[in-house]
Amino acid sequence: MCGIVGYIGNKKAKPILINGLLRLEYRGYDSAGIATIESNGIKNVKNKGRVAELENNSEINELEGTIGIGHTRWATHGKPSEINSHPHMDNKKTTAVVHNGIIENYIELREFLSKNGYEFLSETDTEVIPNLIHYYYEKTSKSGKLDFLKAIKETVNQLKGSFAIEVLNNDFKNEMFVLRKDSPMVIGKGIEENYISSDIPAILSFTKDFYLLNDFEFAVLGRDYIEFYDSNLEKFNKEIKNITWDMSSAEKGNYADFMLKEIFEQPKSIRETIGSRVVKNARIQIDELDISKEYLQNVDRIYIVACGTAMYAGMTAKKILEKYCRIQTEVDIASEFRYRNPLITDRTLCIYISQSGETADTIAALNLAKEHNAKTIAISNVIGSSIVREADYSLYTHAGPEIAVASTKAYTSQIVLLAILGIYFAEVLGVSYNELEELKEEILEVPTKIEEVLKKADQIKQFAKKIANEKDVFFIGRGIDYTVALEGALKLKEISYIHSEAYAAGELKHGPIALIENGITVIGVMTDNLLSSKTISNLQEVITRGAKTFIVTNQNLENVSFNEIINIPQISSYISPILSVVPLQLLAYYISKEKGLDVDKPRNLAKSVTVE
Ligand code: GLU
Repeated sequence: MCGIVGYIGNKKAKPILINGLLRLEYRGYDSAGIATIESNGIKNVKNKGRVAELENNSEINELEGTIGIGHTRWATHGKPSEINSHPHMDNKKTTAVVHNGIIENYIELREFLSKNGYEFLSETDTEVIPNLIHYYYEKTSKSGKLDFLKAIKETVNQLKGSFAIEVLNNDFKNEMFVLRKDSPMVIGKGIEENYISSDIPAILSFTKDFYLLNDFEFAVLGRDYIEFYDSNLEKFNKEIKNITWDMSSAEKGNYADFMLKEIFEQPKSIRETIGSRVVKNARIQIDELDISKEYLQNVDRIYIVACGTAMYAGMTAKKILEKYCRIQTEVDIASEFRYRNPLITDRTLCIYISQSGETADTIAALNLAKEHNAKTIAISNVIGSSIVREADYSLYTHAGPEIAVASTKAYTSQIVLLAILGIYFAEVLGVSYNELEELKEEILEVPTKIEEVLKKADQIKQFAKKIANEKDVFFIGRGIDYTVALEGALKLKEISYIHSEAYAAGELKHGPIALIENGITVIGVMTDNLLSSKTISNLQEVITRGAKTFIVTNQNLENVSFNEIINIPQISSYISPILSVVPLQLLAYYISKEKGLDVDKPRNLAKSVTVE
């Protein structure tokens, strides 16, 4: 889940690598390191902690090389420490490797290498890689680059798990080598210089021309060439992609944090998601899909599969798909779905949601559907990401780069896109309801309505100050408001480290109400007028037991006394989380700030979860 960066050119590599690592730090940030090729061989500098600490590491000033690799780590094997940080080298210090992912069979490989005289300094799974490369390279005639590629190939043939690796070797002082399997990696092409990164935004300020590497494809980068080799080490040509993202969307601008910027970007990101897909008085247009009425009539069920926030976004689509398309819809956690032998047939439609498009469990769940010949649709924010490449059809949210670890604008864009997809299916099926026409109009009004909600930021900030020291917070709602309660609780725990739980409001009295005592905060979401009176009763029950209440609503609540009410505009209950989540995002943000925490890089988390 780490960040990987690489540079080869005529400039000093160190500042470019540091720049890239700072931009990639949201992917992992417990340690950082770089290696460059110097006149006397590879030099490696690394330490525990943030990239800023690496920048201040006195040894780093010795790096003059114009070729280098860098890494920000999200430790899986071995605690964060200097010795466990990447790059790792082989015993003979000939080869340096940075690695993103997990080598599942590293214990066997360590034993094998130990028997062959290799020693290990770190506790990582990664350290087997440079040593295996050394082992296999020694067995070749060492007569050129192809021999080194063969050694990398022999090595990766032994590896089980997921890996994106960059490799430097002392015999090839003007080249660098990369390979990926189940872990993201892109190559940026410049003029007499080339770049590597695990994520496009990190190198977007240097180039807009990218090659997207597929599994088991090798790339060899020189200063003015990039060669691609397939898994048989046959050379092939790769198509270059021009990325049109605006660099400013990957910069903080005048905002204190990426998360705040991304919350405030939601009117814009939703406009981008809607794009030309929804137009008043016209059918929804989704050019990426080729799905017929006959196919949809024959679908036995829809599975929506995702992890974390994306899964909560997925939950909002069930109602629209079941009510209007009359197709049974199940929403599943990817890490559960993949191992529970779900009822997938060739008539099942599976929809996968992943902001990064690299979520390991979601990709595995997608492959499972493919094994059963089910049709697959991927929803992602990242062009050319793995999930997009694997699925039959792909829809982009177009929310722009999301850098803060806690997802905000990607979530609301996913909900809009799922609603658009639901209406599209209904239209393909020939279902016509006035409500669906109204829903389209409401979708078009969402960006302006979010602007209204964002005006409440100060009111939310004041409430956040009052509850910043809480230990436990409960979120409740019914129907679609329950799905947003889940997301609100997740946001709060992710970035403020306050224990927070979400419950369907009617469930409180079946157990959790035992935890309600004087002063506990309960956050209620009420946007569905058919269900609000029920939730109000549940809130009364907790107020009676001493709870403080924070309410997000578009209902008229004149006769009930709550501690704080955030009024949001009226909106269809099919898409209300797009508005009702915004106060919850802001609440989590301001609480985290009040506690002096690093909002964008919360502890133990990383942006794209590329390991199981
Ligand atoms: N498994 C490797 C380690 O723990 C790589 C982790 C990462 O992707 O940052 O060092």
